[in-house]
Amino acid sequence: MLQGKTALVTGSTSGIGLGIAKALAKQGANIVLNGFGDAEGPKAEIAALGVKVAYHGADMSKATEIEAMMKFAADTFGRVDILVNNAGIQHVAKIEDFPIERWDAIIAINLSSAFHATRLALPAMKAANWGRIINVASIHGLVGSAEKSAYVAAKHGVVGLTKVTALENATTGVTCNAICPGWVLTPLVQKQVDAKAQAMGLSNEDAKKQLLQEKEPSMQFTTPEELGELAVFFCSAAGNNVRGVAWNMDGGWTAQ
Ligand code: NAD
Repeated sequence: MLQGKTALVTGSTSGIGLGIAKALAKQGANIVLNGFGDAEGPKAEIAALGVKVAYHGADMSKATEIEAMMKFAADTFGRVDILVNNAGIQHVAKIEDFPIERWDAIIAINLSSAFHATRLALPAMKAANWGRIINVASIHGLVGSAEKSAYVAAKHGVVGLTKVTALENATTGVTCNAICPGWVLTPLVQKQVDAKAQAMGLSNEDAKKQLLQEKEPSMQFTTPEELGELAVFFCSAAGNNVRGVAWNMDGGWTAQ
């Protein structure tokens, strides 16, 4: 379905980003990976799916590095047809204790990076009259949780940016939508499981159950594979007129 297209997925060396990159690669898209840590493992996993893969290590908190990444992608594969703004970090603390440096980093990586990558991707997508911009927001783009001020503010911002991007391109072949996962068991969430286990004297398994019980009626983690399939749907012909939605995959979290 996506043969000949190129997808750039930010923050795709692990977790949800890697899951989405693999799902798009299975549909034939060439992939540009980004993120910190080991890139060779993820590169090999994507290459094994029979598509071309490249990696750029841009720090998504820096506009100049995002510009370099977008240029690298265009130079390597011609243009970016599918942009998945996924890179993100978390910090948990009450507002009055929230480190200013963490606030700034979360706004930069979780929100401003999506603006920069989007503004740089749009001209080529519009020229081709086809493009898909998928913003990985969160249920925290729709509802709040205590001690996550920067994350919730950034993710609500991402949902707003999604709507504006969709509207500005509504008469073109370029769509923009957001994915809003509930709990997904990635390194980002395992840190919160570990913190809960330590604070409450729980085993890893019981801390996971406790985390789910507080918010997610299904008592199940959403998987990167499931989120990947939602991204594939947004890229399909059937997704042509899906514009500006924030689609939750959250086990009923926001239905409450
Ligand atoms: P993760 O920690 O597994 O992956 C985050 C990715 O972002 C990694 O590849 C990491 O290297 C990269 N990254 C971090 N800082 C970066 C920077 N400055 N520049 C470039 N890359 C950077 O986390 P995840 O859970 O897969 O999170 C992916 C996205 O999904 C995030 O935007 C997160 O907010 C969102 N999300 C996660 C959950 C969840 O439960 N895990 C729920 C809702 C939304």
